[in-house]
Amino acid sequence: MSLTNTLIEITRLFLPSLNRKCSHSKIRPDIEQGYCPDCGKLIKNEWYIARCSCCGVKIKAMVKNGEIVAQEHFCSNCGSEGYKIEKLDQINFIDINFAALMKKEVEEERFCNTTKCWQEKTIETPKLLVQYL
Ligand SMILES: [Zn+2]
Ligand SMILES: [Zn+2]
Repeated sequence: MSLTNTLIEITRLFLPSLNRKCSHSKIRPDIEQGYCPDCGKLIKNEWYIARCSCCGVKIKAMVKNGEIVAQEHFCSNCGSEGYKIEKLDQINFIDINFAALMKKEVEEERFCNTTKCWQEKTIETPKLLVQYL
C-alpha cells in the first residue's frame, strides 16, 4: 500500500466521526442537562408538546429534521388542522406520552481548558470546576 493510500484510509477512518453530527444519545432523558460523553457539549433536555390551536387538546409531538412537529395532521377532538408547539418546563407522566424530547446544545463559555486550569488559581473557580471533573 502506498503512502497516499494509507493517508486516504486514515482520513476515511477519522473524518466521518468529525463530520457526523452527534445525537447525544448517551444523555439520559430524565436529567435536565448534562455533558455528552461523545462530543463534550453541554446538552439541555427540552420537552415539547403540540396543542390544537382550535380546541387546545394535546397532540403527540415528535422531532423531525430538528424541529418539533405534531404527529397527527388533524386534531382528534375537533378536526382542525392547525396546532401550536408548547415548551414544557418539566416533564410529567401524563405529558410524556405526548411530548417530544429535543436535545439542545448549550453554547457556553469554556473558561476552563487544561492549561488555564493549572496556570490560574483564582478564588471563584474551584466551585465551578467540579462540574468539569
Ligand atoms: Zn453529543
Ligand atoms: Zn382541536
